[in-house]
Amino acid sequence: MSVKPQTKSWLKVVLTTTLLLTPIACAVQNITTAQQPTVKQKTQNQTYSQVYTDVQNLVNMGPRVAGTPINEKASAYIEQQYRKAGYRTRIQTFTYSKFRDAGSSLTVDGTTIKANALFGSAPGKLSARLVAVPNKARAEDFAKVNVKGAIAIVKRGEIRFTQKVDNAVNAGAVGVVIVNNKSGNLAGGTLTQKSKIPVLGISGDDGDKLYARSLTTPLTINFNANGQNVDVTGRNVIAFQEGVTQPKVILGGHFDSVELAPGANDNASGTAVVLDIARKVSNTPLARQAWFIAFDGEEDGLHGSRAFVDAATPQFLSELKGMMNFDMVGVNDKLLIGGSSELTKIAQVVQPKAQLFGASYANGASDHAPFAARGVPILFFYRGMEPNYHSRNDKTVDPKLLDETTQAGLDIFKRLVTN
Ligand SMILES: [Zn+2]
Repeated sequence: MSVKPQTKSWLKVVLTTTLLLTPIACAVQNITTAQQPTVKQKTQNQTYSQVYTDVQNLVNMGPRVAGTPINEKASAYIEQQYRKAGYRTRIQTFTYSKFRDAGSSLTVDGTTIKANALFGSAPGKLSARLVAVPNKARAEDFAKVNVKGAIAIVKRGEIRFTQKVDNAVNAGAVGVVIVNNKSGNLAGGTLTQKSKIPVLGISGDDGDKLYARSLTTPLTINFNANGQNVDVTGRNVIAFQEGVTQPKVILGGHFDSVELAPGANDNASGTAVVLDIARKVSNTPLARQAWFIAFDGEEDGLHGSRAFVDAATPQFLSELKGMMNFDMVGVNDKLLIGGSSELTKIAQVVQPKAQLFGASYANGASDHAPFAARGVPILFFYRGMEPNYHSRNDKTVDPKLLDETTQAGLDIFKRLVTN
């Protein structure tokens, strides 16, 4: 359903407002990531800033995958925090199709190995010989073995998954198992074009063993690739002060996370920093210059920010002085700021310590990209890649870095609207 709001009609949305219970605020001490005591230990002897508490509260909910109950709970929590800070809120919902593994598996000699269907894989249940393909499964490697009517087991690397699968099809294979070149699962593997045969990915640990065995022992495996496209409903949380229909600046960051990842740094950190800036300006005229947005569906392809931009009128976008996006700002000492030259110039003056990077680097990576694509000047706040990215270990951030990012964002926001 879409509703044309009475105000300057900038948006086709489904609007709902809800009221939810929220945790209480606290103050913080500087802690480096390595020494991080557990949440329980901290509660006993330290107090926290609200921004850090928000990160912990979002993390403690579990992975905030778009379209899941945890994600909905997180959006309700964020909405309630903005309301407590004196803002009105809207939930913008949008739908998109997402590939999801509905329970694929691989069984050999009665032992089941965890497997994931690759995005773009044909569904299929098979029982066939397993044949190891040498090297990295180039066409000439398939010529060295006979995979006709068999399932080919291949190693990741050097060429794209899709090329390996094409080579397997051309050699007559009926299925493909791709062994990850890392110990973990090959979750989220993507074929750049739909395959005619089913394709599963398995972890390096399991795969190296199975590959080695298939070189010496004739093996028959049972194989079930069960990937499906499902419709996901995303929920952007939009906060603004009463009557502010056309902001000068949008401050945002995504709150969804990937499967299995608690998403402390990616991206409870950015979500909490934007909320913190909103709180800090809530009783000042600055609050009426901005909208504050927690985007959903970013991890599945920038769906939330794309839906927002697509629903906005050209007039609304053209009147924006800038979109400031915060993503992964809780780990790594160096704050990186990149984006449109007219905004990085301002950032350089206000934040001389920050490391700047150009628009080319900033463009594709996160929720500022759909705005940039529509000509809105953008600024991207980011602290760089880190070992826990998109993993179960993305559980902690450094509260000092959150506070530093909030201050940098606040100062640049002020300068931007007064400029
Ligand atoms: Zn992110």
